[in-house]
Amino acid sequence: MKNIEQFRYVTGVGFDKLVSRLIEDYTVYGTIKKDGFPAFSKISDAGELELAQTPTHLSAKEFLFPQRETLLKFDIRNNIHEAVIEAKEQVIVGLHPCDIRAIALMDRVFSEGRPDANYLARRNKTVIIGSDCMPDNYCFCKSMGTMTVEEGFDLFLHKIKKGYLVRVGTKKGERLLSKYTVTLKPTAGRLRELDEFNKIREASFTAKLDASPEELPSIYAGAYESPVWDKIGAICTGCGSCNNVCPTCYCFDVKDEVEPNLSEGKRVRVWDGCTLEDFAKVAGGHNFRKTRAERLRHRFNRKFRYLSDRFGELFCVGCGRCSRTCLVKINIAEVTNEIIRESHRRR
Ligand code: SF4
Ligand code: SF4
Repeated sequence: MKNIEQFRYVTGVGFDKLVSRLIEDYTVYGTIKKDGFPAFSKISDAGELELAQTPTHLSAKEFLFPQRETLLKFDIRNNIHEAVIEAKEQVIVGLHPCDIRAIALMDRVFSEGRPDANYLARRNKTVIIGSDCMPDNYCFCKSMGTMTVEEGFDLFLHKIKKGYLVRVGTKKGERLLSKYTVTLKPTAGRLRELDEFNKIREASFTAKLDASPEELPSIYAGAYESPVWDKIGAICTGCGSCNNVCPTCYCFDVKDEVEPNLSEGKRVRVWDGCTLEDFAKVAGGHNFRKTRAERLRHRFNRKFRYLSDRFGELFCVGCGRCSRTCLVKINIAEVTNEIIRESHRRR
């Protein structure tokens, strides 16, 4: 149940003031309407922000883990090499609960073992402001246990008829709120409004998984030889879009780009994706996952099994982005349900 102490009330005008003042002091990214769809973008005016209830096609991971970034600059002749870490004070507004859960997973990936200086520098300078959502036909976060968040954000916005209920997640969030706008104690009526919204939201899910998140690693372990992989492998185009849009896909390639003087250059990292043909290709031309079926099996197992073995958490937050974007309609929830049904038949 709600911790009422965590809530503040901000009027619509007060909210615009908060966003305007944040823009003065930070680089602010938030959701706008782009070609009729919600999309994350840099905001330079509070009026541009349109908090979206349905998910954006692309996740917000690029603001913490850019699609392409320079890690190192070098000059071989002069024996110079210097690390490049580009991080600025930034705010991301409009992250849905699944997106906030995804950032928590990325935090683990980039901080456990060998900490990633570039990601962590950016992450430490980032303010996370969440907002409410409403599922579309692809969202299955309710089945993944990621439909709500209690942590991982500095502030969380609940739009109500008049103004916003704002949940405070951190001291930093509290400081920003009191520095940049005026807040009031929420009335019981306004909190009831939120309860009503939450009930409607919870009843609105159409996509669901037919097993609990805890069951999925063993179900996937038993599905290695499933005919499902050949079936979806036969239609997959290997475009890699599912990797690109996924908020928890973090694989990258590192390349050196050398200037024509053959001395200066830079080391860059770019997103890579396990559904791309060259991902598992090694020197000599051998490919550890030659077929699209093998590559999709690998991707699905990473989400529901392999990374759970390593981190103790599933790496799918049920945002539905990979299904939403797939041109040949490979739907991760439907594929998983097919695998679940097969496992029931094997019992
Ligand atoms: S988006 Fe669809 S077609 Fe493209 S690689 Fe992923 S599963 Fe295959
Ligand atoms: S695997 Fe698909 S549904 Fe799961 S988090 Fe990634 S994009 Fe979202």
